[in-house]
Amino acid sequence: MRLLGKLSIKHKLQAIMMVTVAAALLLAGAVLLVYEIAGVRSSMKDELEVVAGTMGANSTAALIFRDQRSAAELLQGLRVQPAIQVARIYSVDGEVFAGYLRPGAAAVCTPPKSARDWIWFQHGRLVVFHPVYMDGVEIGAVYLESDLREMNERLLRSMWIMLLVLALSGVCAYLVAARLQRVISSPVVHLAQTAKAVTLIKNYGIRAHKTTDDELGMLIDGFNEMLSEIQQRDHDLERHRHSLEEEVCTRTAELRKVNAELTEARDKAEEASHAKSEFLANMSHEIRTPMNGIIGMTELTLDSELTVEQRESLLLIKQSADSLLNVINDILDFSKIEAGKLELDRIPFSPRECVQETTKLLALRAREKGLELRCEIDSGVPERVVGDPMRLRQVLLNLAGNAIKFTARGEVAVEVSAASTAEERVTLEFAVRDTGMGIPLDKQQTIFDAFSQADGSMTRRFGGSGLGLSISSRLVSMMGGAIAVESRPGEGSRFHFNIEVASAHEEAGQAPAAEAETPARPAAGPALRILVAEDNAVNQRVVIRLLERRGHSVAVAANGREALAALVREPFDLILMDVQMPEMSGFEATERIRRSERGSGHHIPIIAMTAHAMAGDRERCMACGMDAYVSKPLRPKDLLDLLEKFSPAATPVQ
Ligand code: ADP
Repeated sequence: MRLLGKLSIKHKLQAIMMVTVAAALLLAGAVLLVYEIAGVRSSMKDELEVVAGTMGANSTAALIFRDQRSAAELLQGLRVQPAIQVARIYSVDGEVFAGYLRPGAAAVCTPPKSARDWIWFQHGRLVVFHPVYMDGVEIGAVYLESDLREMNERLLRSMWIMLLVLALSGVCAYLVAARLQRVISSPVVHLAQTAKAVTLIKNYGIRAHKTTDDELGMLIDGFNEMLSEIQQRDHDLERHRHSLEEEVCTRTAELRKVNAELTEARDKAEEASHAKSEFLANMSHEIRTPMNGIIGMTELTLDSELTVEQRESLLLIKQSADSLLNVINDILDFSKIEAGKLELDRIPFSPRECVQETTKLLALRAREKGLELRCEIDSGVPERVVGDPMRLRQVLLNLAGNAIKFTARGEVAVEVSAASTAEERVTLEFAVRDTGMGIPLDKQQTIFDAFSQADGSMTRRFGGSGLGLSISSRLVSMMGGAIAVESRPGEGSRFHFNIEVASAHEEAGQAPAAEAETPARPAAGPALRILVAEDNAVNQRVVIRLLERRGHSVAVAANGREALAALVREPFDLILMDVQMPEMSGFEATERIRRSERGSGHHIPIIAMTAHAMAGDRERCMACGMDAYVSKPLRPKDLLDLLEKFSPAATPVQ
């Protein structure tokens, strides 16, 4: 069976048919052989019995007359029958009356004693014992032994014939099977070949040919139907794929279009944002310049003799101008942060002093409102760290300023502690507590967004741009920390934030020269000859009046070119240089001055005076050779401090 499994269907069918035919033939042959044997034996028996009967009848006279000679002669007549090997005639008393033995043969059987007919096969011989009667009286018996050679020969012949028949029928069966198997195998083989072709070339259009209507025909029909279904599905899938591809193409095109539009929109937005920053820088300049005039003139006028009413009015003007300047500063800071142009300083400072200065600055406002302003500094706070004290002060001022603004009674406390101190990094934690009106829960997150106030109506009552917390939150995150608020309406608020600063020893000495602490100077310095390069007439007057009041003498140049010309005409102790001027900017004029000084050993101090407050202004001023920077509107004290610092008596000429 296992062997059969390896054969092709053709050979399998052939083998089955051959085996079936051979089995049938063998069975038939065996039956025939058995039948033949039985027939041969029976006819041999009959023949021998006839011979025995004849011998018995012929020997009657010899037996009666006891003529042994004629009995022997009778037996000799059996010579013509080659099968008979032994023949005997017995007398009635059982004695051998006459005998015959074929030459070369021997008796192998023993005759029976009874007086009955016997015929049997024994020791390869057929033996017959036939009693002889005379008038019903037994007078003797005939005994014959015949060999089976004839029978065996007949059987052998029959077997040969059968084998021949078997061989012939085998050949015929093979030939017939070879033809007949095709009826079954060729459709199956065809089906198999079709299936193989379909798998190989993946062509589901191929069909198997049906030749019969039997089960094989049904199988082929089923196979073809299956192929049709697959073909249909393939077709559907292909169509679907096509429509999908088309859809993807359309979508991709749409996406590309949207992308292009988005890119355009982004570019426009970036352009707009850039334009906004430019606009803010310009506006800052434009607003600060007249503000310089207003604040400067107001301060100068306040220094003169005035009536009470006039003084009050001027103080109000100054207050309004200060508030306006605060709003402008907020907007500028915000736009600087938005434009990513705000850079933090890294200079050594004392966090304690920073907190103390903040509270000092707000002490007057708190006192005016009847609030207690406390400052709690943890003993673990390091003496000096490296960071941006100005921006830290700005955050603290905003938080504490708000606390005072939104608290009617009670207290405001500013706290600082060192949360974790690693070897090189320090995390400082600040908190500003108040007992004021508090902030509703739903507003606590939005107040850190730009232009957002907890209560819109408060703006009018308390003032403010809604930018302070947004700026503070961004500054804090730039300083590596986060800001948060806990508050209950009616009970007060607690704003807290942390910042990361470096330990001071690590960065000591890296502070820029301009920020280095200067030794305290006597309030009144020597009278200086100062060149003021400034294009705005009002500002010229403010600076001239401010400087002349302090006893300095002033020459004015309306632009960089005039300043250079003035320097050629006469020597000056110091230059106050506006940055943005017509014809020649302050940057260019400074660069030219520094170039002309090269190799002379001379260095005239130049202090930049600019209403430009965008990021990088200070750096630009320093980079082109200026010595210090003061932003407009000028604070008289800042300017006078700088004059002192750079007066020839204080600074050795390099
Ligand atoms: P503003 O310039 O309006 O004060 P801020 O960004 O500093 O802008 O504050 C946003 C809003 O958050 C304020 O208008 C106020 O409604 C609320 N707020 C800030 N600090 C406090 C506080 N300490 N108590 C109550 N409300 C506060």
